Amino acid sequence: MSYTPTRSDFDQYMTPNYSPQQVIPVRGEGSRLWDQKGKEYIDFAGGIAVNSLGHCHPVLVNALKEQGDKLWHLSNIYTNEPALKLAKKLVERTFADKVYLCSSGGEANEAALKLARRYAVDHFGEKKDKIISFSQSFHGRTLFTVSVGGQPKYSQGFGPVPGGIMHAEYNDLDSVRALMGDDTCAIMVEPLQGEGGILPAKPEFLKGLRELCDQHNALLVFDEVQTGVGRCGTLYAYERYGVTPDILTSAKSLGGGFPIGAMLATDNVAKSLAFGTHGSTYGGNALGSAVALAALEFIDTPEVLEGIEKRHELFREQLETINRKHGVFQEIRGMGLLIGAQMTPQYEGRAKDILPLAIEEGLMALVAGPNVLRMAPSLVIPESDIVEGMARLERAIEKFVAQA
Ligand SMILES: *Cc1c(COP(=O)(O)O)cnc(C)c1O
Repeated sequence: MSYTPTRSDFDQYMTPNYSPQQVIPVRGEGSRLWDQKGKEYIDFAGGIAVNSLGHCHPVLVNALKEQGDKLWHLSNIYTNEPALKLAKKLVERTFADKVYLCSSGGEANEAALKLARRYAVDHFGEKKDKIISFSQSFHGRTLFTVSVGGQPKYSQGFGPVPGGIMHAEYNDLDSVRALMGDDTCAIMVEPLQGEGGILPAKPEFLKGLRELCDQHNALLVFDEVQTGVGRCGTLYAYERYGVTPDILTSAKSLGGGFPIGAMLATDNVAKSLAFGTHGSTYGGNALGSAVALAALEFIDTPEVLEGIEKRHELFREQLETINRKHGVFQEIRGMGLLIGAQMTPQYEGRAKDILPLAIEEGLMALVAGPNVLRMAPSLVIPESDIVEGMARLERAIEKFVAQA
């Protein structure tokens, strides 16, 4: 007898660290999903900014199937062709000279932080160990990355945390200057705070961080796990700002749904990740690398990148139209297809209440913190799906306002 899992199986068999929505999607195609009962949804969530080409894009399915018939995994005792092609492409298209491959964003950031510390030890000695990051930032869930992240609720209650970490205020250079010294090893920053509420950096802020790092021989690390690979309309968000980091991390959209992460660095910095200093069993496996290469090659074309800007405008127009009628948002912001709508003070803390109403109407969306409705759809979502999704969102918001 075949068995069909239900949502209550989640509570029975899974650790309780998540609380998923009640429906279980079973199939996806492009920006549409279907649940166990055959109900259809438009996907504005994109697996939290991961499904960069929607669900089951033929280019990714082909890459997966082709590589799946050839070679999956070797370990780092051998190298493989897809990993080398992926690394070459990343080097050719960015500031970086060297690439370290791993399996998630948190791992890419863990590698970046360890590299920054090791670089400081190699060049300036043990005392240069301070890492500056920002309140409300998010960098992953390992103990080092939650400690660097600026949301204490994620790092508290797990015993002693790594030391030498300081938090400044985002978009506030003076707060960074107050902490910066010759013992600063690195600044880690998201060019747009994703989990923290879809807050873009001001251009002068990132430029100022670059200058401070140069003055104090500190490394500038951009966490582009959420903003990278087309999400903000350029391959990486740093291009839009004209500010170049020393280390950059990438994941989410990079694999289009296959778990992969990458840390990119300049040659001089990368030298400190010398033989034996760091590693990952799955990092750079052939299967993941082949899928990521296919995603990257597809996204990194003028047609796709320009299409992201067009879709951004449509999202904004549609959200503003909804808002003129219902007055629930105080600000609509973001870059490319990473869009946030901040709730008005009247609906303080209520953004998440829209999600189940949207599910009822056949729309999947996200929140970023308690006050921001977030959208991170496929970078190639058809315009007709945006329009239809927005009609569903409007119905959900009508219900939300009526209930409030
Ligand atoms: C999602 C995210 C991470 C963590 O990535 P995982 O793949 O969940 O480990 C790190 N930094 C940013 C900015 C993110 O959005």
